Amino acid sequence: MKHPVKVFKFGGASLRDADSVKNVASILQGYKSDRLLIVVSAMGKTTDALEKVVAAHAGKTGEAYELLEGVKKAHYGICDQLFDKNDEVYAAVNDTFVEIEWILEEEPHDNYDYMYDQIVSVGELVSSKIVQAFLNKMNLPTQWLDARDVILTDDIFREGWVQWPETEARCEKVVLPMIEKGGFILTQGFIGSTQENFTTTLGREGSDYTAAIFSYLLDADSMTIWKDVPGVLTADPRLFDNVTKLDRLSYKEAIEMTYYGAKVIHPKTIKPLQNKSIPLYVKSFKDPDAEGTFISGEVEDHYPPMIAVEQNQALLQISTRDFSFVAEHHISYLFNFIAEMRIQVNMMQNTAISFVMCVNDIDDKVERFIEKIDDKFKVILDRGLELVTVRHYRDDLIESLHEGKIVMLEERLGNTVSMVMKKVPMMKRKI
Ligand code: ADP
Ligand code: ASP
Ligand code: MG
Repeated sequence: MKHPVKVFKFGGASLRDADSVKNVASILQGYKSDRLLIVVSAMGKTTDALEKVVAAHAGKTGEAYELLEGVKKAHYGICDQLFDKNDEVYAAVNDTFVEIEWILEEEPHDNYDYMYDQIVSVGELVSSKIVQAFLNKMNLPTQWLDARDVILTDDIFREGWVQWPETEARCEKVVLPMIEKGGFILTQGFIGSTQENFTTTLGREGSDYTAAIFSYLLDADSMTIWKDVPGVLTADPRLFDNVTKLDRLSYKEAIEMTYYGAKVIHPKTIKPLQNKSIPLYVKSFKDPDAEGTFISGEVEDHYPPMIAVEQNQALLQISTRDFSFVAEHHISYLFNFIAEMRIQVNMMQNTAISFVMCVNDIDDKVERFIEKIDDKFKVILDRGLELVTVRHYRDDLIESLHEGKIVMLEERLGNTVSMVMKKVPMMKRKI
């Protein structure tokens, strides 16, 4: 059902300190007459910090409480600058952090990913409580929505997949009455819940995707993600000079760019929007009146070269232990595990005696995969690689990207080149 709602998403960079929260409120003052559903991420680098708490608890290093104290201190520090000492937000924040303390009091759970989701999700919960309280204080009436009451996922922790029909039904039931009340609705990105009410997360950087889920469910007028960059650029400005802003992009181009690793938008974001032709704006929270990038279904066929880089790649050369060719049944055997472990495969190639694939190297997934197939397959593993993809490439640009790098695997498809690359090791020079 179509609703006159706009969906906004504010990420960690836009909520990194008290001044940033004030800036978000001042942007929202300009949308007082709109019906907004606002999705927020954890503040600044909170998710990274909470990941450390999880690792310390699981590894029983004895540092978990101290690490948690650091996270709490940072949040209370922000509250001190936004609220009076006796504001009720302090109790709300405290009650949310207590959930982690209860987990730390127990022995670490056997299922690391389950424990991870219960702890790390607190980042988004706390952030949403603080921002909601501040918006209300600034005379922007805002209702707080628990995203877990709407987004139902399967029970694969850390990589929950949305169960669409149930999620849609919950959205009608929970969100529509809130929309009717008027004002803003504020909820958390990144988190969902299983049928049994355990918290799940949707994968790192998943808040953009949450905003797209709500946009889809409400058939929103538009979605806007507020970033620390002027819009979608031709490459990551942290890695390349001379990048330029793209004023307009088609859904297809945005899907391709983000699929190959353009970090500005989570790759799952575009599809739900495309399905309902909901336009996406990528705008700068530092310059909210500037135009940003407009992403829609309009086809535009002239783009400059665009580069996406995925770090932390592993290349696996897999061969059979019985020296047979790697045949279809082997590949199906391997992919069963890959699917089960939700390993993301970015490139593959088949030769007579080996099957080569480049995957995202997250935690110990690659080791666990190699262990699982060890009885039947030998694996040569290369880690610490990067996958560089250029859309609308020019040969001179590809050449310059090769400088100082060894290309381990390359694929050219239409106007796209993807290369798995390794830094050339420093050689000793003669004197
Ligand atoms: P958020 O605050 O929403 O979590 P992110 O830090 O995840 O924001 O994403 C914004 C960052 O994405 C930018 O600071 C920029 O360094 C990086 N980035 C990578 N590729 C691009 C690109 N093609 N265009 C713009 N930014 C990009
Ligand atoms: N806070 C989560 C993360 O850092 C989700 C997000 O920011 O999109 O991965
Ligand atoms: Mg992010």
